[in-house]
Amino acid sequence: MTDTPPINAQALNHWFGSGEARKQALFDISLQIPRGSFTALVGPSGSGKTTLLTLLGCLRDVQEGSVQLLGHELRAAPEADLITLRRRLGFIFQAHNLHESLTAMQNVMMGLQVHGRIDDATAKQAAAHALGLVGLSERLHYLPGNLSGGQKQRVAVSRALVGSPDIVMADEPTAALDRESGANVVDLLKRMGQARGTTTLMVTHDGRILDRADRILTLEDGRIVKDERRSPA
Ligand code: ADP
Ligand code: MG
Repeated sequence: MTDTPPINAQALNHWFGSGEARKQALFDISLQIPRGSFTALVGPSGSGKTTLLTLLGCLRDVQEGSVQLLGHELRAAPEADLITLRRRLGFIFQAHNLHESLTAMQNVMMGLQVHGRIDDATAKQAAAHALGLVGLSERLHYLPGNLSGGQKQRVAVSRALVGSPDIVMADEPTAALDRESGANVVDLLKRMGQARGTTTLMVTHDGRILDRADRILTLEDGRIVKDERRSPA
């Protein structure tokens, strides 16, 4: 393992729209996030959190500046390279995006299909394990319609983690979680950080998570205005 940070952004600028409507959303963002760390991203609505997260997660093209993700430059990278890189990431979004016609286990197995051919028995075992980690062992064969909001979000967390991603990127994932589940998800991500170097970047305003973060970055009007390192409780 090298010391190359898994996320390394330099002088990132980003714009939306064109002509008169062209508006800059991110200004001169430079950022290095070390392996195994848990970073929280905070800031007012419209400050650029989702834009930054999706740029770093290769879900949006880098317009100006540089992003090196797991040692690979994203700017002007061929789509095939981006697809390969995305397989090493786990995403958890605000809306859980589960397939309503698939059971919890089948939804989590979708998180493995990006890895290509894995035999069904292995995939089922991995999905059951990932659901067990978020306390859903008793709900493997439930459809999303028969799960609570918090349980659905935990299925989405399992789906993001089942492929053992190098980086987890999450956009307010705990909004729908009750207090205990939110804390459990953070503990799980932190354990994965220690055990296998999983790096987490999470947009959140949840005080329970901020208390446990290694670092809190604050965005305002598209700029990083605060960068606090913590020694978490
Ligand atoms: P946050 O996640 O912090 O609420 P966003 O990253 O979603 O902020 O948005 C940052 C800024 O970029 C806002 O001014 C928003 O209106 C603008 N923006 C975001 N997405 C788009 C888009 N697809 N088209 C145009 N403007 C956008
Ligand atoms: Mg957002």
